Amino acid sequence: MSDTLIAFDDVLASYDPAMGLEVHVELNTLTKMFCGCPTEFGAAPNTQVCPTCLGLPGAMPVVNRKAVESAIRIGLALNCDIAEWCRFARKNYFYPDMPKNFQTSQYDEPICFDGYMDVDVDGETFRVEIERAHMEEDTGKSLHVGGATGRIHGADHSLVDYNRAGIPLIEIVTKPILGTGAKAPEVARAYVAQLRDLIVALDVSDARMDQGSIRADVNLSLSPKGSGVLGTRTETKNVNSLRSVERAVRYEMSRHAAVLGSGQKILQETRHWHEDTGVTTSGREKSDAEDYRYFPEPDLVPVAPSREWVEELRGTLPENPTARRARLQAEWGFSDLEMRDTVGAGALNVIEQTIAAGTSPQAARKWWLGELARRANEQGLLVDALPVTPADVARVQALVDEGSLNDKLARQVFDGLFAGEGTPDEVVAARGLAIVSDEGALSTAVDNAIAANPDVADKIRDGKVAAAGALIGAVMKEMRGQADAGRVRELILEKLQ
Ligand SMILES: [Zn+2]
Repeated sequence: MSDTLIAFDDVLASYDPAMGLEVHVELNTLTKMFCGCPTEFGAAPNTQVCPTCLGLPGAMPVVNRKAVESAIRIGLALNCDIAEWCRFARKNYFYPDMPKNFQTSQYDEPICFDGYMDVDVDGETFRVEIERAHMEEDTGKSLHVGGATGRIHGADHSLVDYNRAGIPLIEIVTKPILGTGAKAPEVARAYVAQLRDLIVALDVSDARMDQGSIRADVNLSLSPKGSGVLGTRTETKNVNSLRSVERAVRYEMSRHAAVLGSGQKILQETRHWHEDTGVTTSGREKSDAEDYRYFPEPDLVPVAPSREWVEELRGTLPENPTARRARLQAEWGFSDLEMRDTVGAGALNVIEQTIAAGTSPQAARKWWLGELARRANEQGLLVDALPVTPADVARVQALVDEGSLNDKLARQVFDGLFAGEGTPDEVVAARGLAIVSDEGALSTAVDNAIAANPDVADKIRDGKVAAAGALIGAVMKEMRGQADAGRVRELILEKLQ
């Protein structure tokens, strides 16, 4: 069941895209939004629950102060106004992973509103206006057992885990994003990427899209080119990677144009994104006035953050990640491409710390984006989760700089560090990795190589210096790699010229 699509360029010839992005951020508070249950990821099912987050009769919720603090800091970082007074509201709906049969959220009184974020795409800046950022709680998780797809269809039975029910969420909602044209997919991706960077810098969430701690819903509609009349929108739910945000926008633009072009109407509905096939499929119909029968939560007092507290929190905001990146790029002298690779690999912080420990920017980049990125890839980790610290990398590079290690030996030091054999110096000592700087031993090895390769030696005597590579290789082999190749080359040429 695949939809007809219109080529992207043809979509743009006839329509202007309008987007709206709703991003859910799961906060990293130690306890849940309205109770003291722990929030740790991966615990045995239904071990982190209590009467409040299970919605048992008579249980009374209490607001998590840290979650309010995180919400305000997110709002301030997004240039929002912070409400002087706001309330929680009950959003009523029935779903098995929602044990209270309502979600405690905010409705017409969000804690943060009217902000913006400037998004950079290829040197062009798009201002994305933020409608609101409000506090709410996460749902539990359903597990459908026995079917082939893991979906409820075809399953024998379903299990529910309420450990996640009640974990604090912040939902950040943009105003319609207009005027992006052909860059709509890239703007959507860049917005979510910059928002994630901001969340990381604020340290209010794990910000792991792959684990669902940041989830994006992508609203899209098309309006006839130049008309300014917004079309009917669809909402693609739970898009869980940056690449998928971009692809989902592109796909929905092409699908909308095909539907409209055939004279049909776009159905206002939620859609499911399929990562594997890169398509969306129909979810449920949704009307604007869907009746959740919101009403103010009677069991919670209003939240009225004092202006003093808000200003105190404003003082804790980190440097804006986009500005910080520009500053570091200038300080380090990285090209745009080098900087993009650094950020893409999640290596910005470790490279900054390695440089702070005394390594040159290019050497720090070489290790973290080369050898260490390769090992991280093999293990499915991010570079900052490797068992190697910026201080270790700085020490290894210092040993290279002082001539005690070459790159090959340095890689063997990393083998030792990954095997848990101690500090770089301990690995060098235990494995006997230091370069042999004993001139006598080097000289003997060079003599041996010359004697074993008389024809190569003759070539060098005849002035074919390029042939020295073969002798250097032979010497390095005899020295088990523990020689300075530059010094070996000098010795060869001294002896043969
Ligand atoms: Zn609880």
